[in-house]
Amino acid sequence: MTEALLFEKTQPDLAGPRLPAAGVDADLGLPQHLLRRRPPELPRLSEPTIMRHYSRLASMNFSISEEFYPLGSCTMKYNPVANEWAARLEGFVSLHPYQDEESMQGALELLWRLERALCAIVGVDRMTLQPAAGAHGEWTALRMIQAYHRERGEDRDEVIVPDSAHGTNPASATLCGYRVVEVRSGTDGRVDVGDLESKLSPRVAALMLTNPNTLGLFERQIVEMAEMVHATGAKLYYDGANLNALMGICRPGDMGFDAVHLNLHKTFTTPHGGGGPGAGPVGVKADLVPYLPRPTVERQDGRFRLDYDRPRSIGRVRSFYGNFGVLVRAFAYILAMGGDGLTQASRDAVLAANYLRRQVAGPLEVPHPGPCMHEFVASATTLAQGGVRATDLAKGLLERGFYAPTVYFPLIVPEAVMVEPTETETRATLDAFAAAVREIVDLAHRDPEQLHRAPTRLPVGRLDEVAAARHPVLRWRPPDDR
Ligand SMILES: *Cc1c(COP(=O)(O)O)cnc(C)c1O
Repeated sequence: MTEALLFEKTQPDLAGPRLPAAGVDADLGLPQHLLRRRPPELPRLSEPTIMRHYSRLASMNFSISEEFYPLGSCTMKYNPVANEWAARLEGFVSLHPYQDEESMQGALELLWRLERALCAIVGVDRMTLQPAAGAHGEWTALRMIQAYHRERGEDRDEVIVPDSAHGTNPASATLCGYRVVEVRSGTDGRVDVGDLESKLSPRVAALMLTNPNTLGLFERQIVEMAEMVHATGAKLYYDGANLNALMGICRPGDMGFDAVHLNLHKTFTTPHGGGGPGAGPVGVKADLVPYLPRPTVERQDGRFRLDYDRPRSIGRVRSFYGNFGVLVRAFAYILAMGGDGLTQASRDAVLAANYLRRQVAGPLEVPHPGPCMHEFVASATTLAQGGVRATDLAKGLLERGFYAPTVYFPLIVPEAVMVEPTETETRATLDAFAAAVREIVDLAHRDPEQLHRAPTRLPVGRLDEVAAARHPVLRWRPPDDR
């Protein structure tokens, strides 16, 4: 916030805060006592000072364009430069969201074609490109499922979620007003089908599943589970965050899923960004299509138009057309890869994960038998006698120039260390990572204290992460102030 204001100040045409002109309060109907009387005190800084500030921050950042980023479940794969070229094409960047349809045919065609491509990849009938993140997609899909059941006069108030699920699944269900019912994982790390059966009833609106699940394991009984769920009138929801394991190989739609969200910032190489700006398109089978957010993009006589005339729609879930620039990047990636390229990406992602899994299983415990899909979950419990935990292992990896894997998730594995290398890494990088894990495990037995102190060579050392989350310091300090 301060930084945004600060930047405004350096733009000559925005110089000086603008106070409301006399009489404006009356026009706006704002109470007199709430109006600002003095300009806010903004720091005065030169352009070079600001440039250095941001460059310094950028150099402290840890990014996929500099280092290996094996953050499990998050699919931090390389974002091709060609995507950026496409997103910056003049015709796309100079569009105004209020332009009329006739003058933005190219943009509408891109949206239409991207929807078709994604439908083909996941095996559904239609998609909305509006949601801005995976979690937003989950919520959007559950709203559609809710509308579907309500229209049938069915009163369903439960959503089933496995104990290995990502936290956004129960959160989205709760936000939609559902009660979350947890289903257990069996000892093999997959959904316990007996437990699922015991929890299905006419009160259940949906089962939310990730396949492969967050342990990187394929749910082999998915077709059977789909039949059980559908037999009770409930819908099957696919959390598509792990589509990077399957793209081009098999399709959630064919497994029996009725609604699917995708994370374009995971599988389709668009930038992540903190909680967005991402894109979480949602695809649905025919009986959920009437509830899709509006407007949809339709093709008619070779022209493209926005269709607002959708009376059963759940309404709009995002302003305008979603994160358009992100959608352009994903489309560029799909075109560049082609069907065979996307399939190869999944195969390589699975190969890389299994290659690394074999090297890490040994120094660390990997509780579930392989092979895995695009990621695997190890456990740092074997390091406990030296007082070394998953978090220390993660910090040790940061110290050695790697981003840390996801730790303490999924919740069903104690001291979880979840590794997802993705298809875009070389074998040399994977070997270097495995060597770093071995070195850390060795250190955990010899000199655990050294790991407790890590990282010591990064811009920031060991943080109190709970305090940082609970009491964030958001105020910007000029460089000479510290
Ligand atoms: C990332 C992720 C989500 C949430 O997606 P966002 O785009 O971060 O909102 C949901 N489920 C799983 C399994 C994930 O990995």
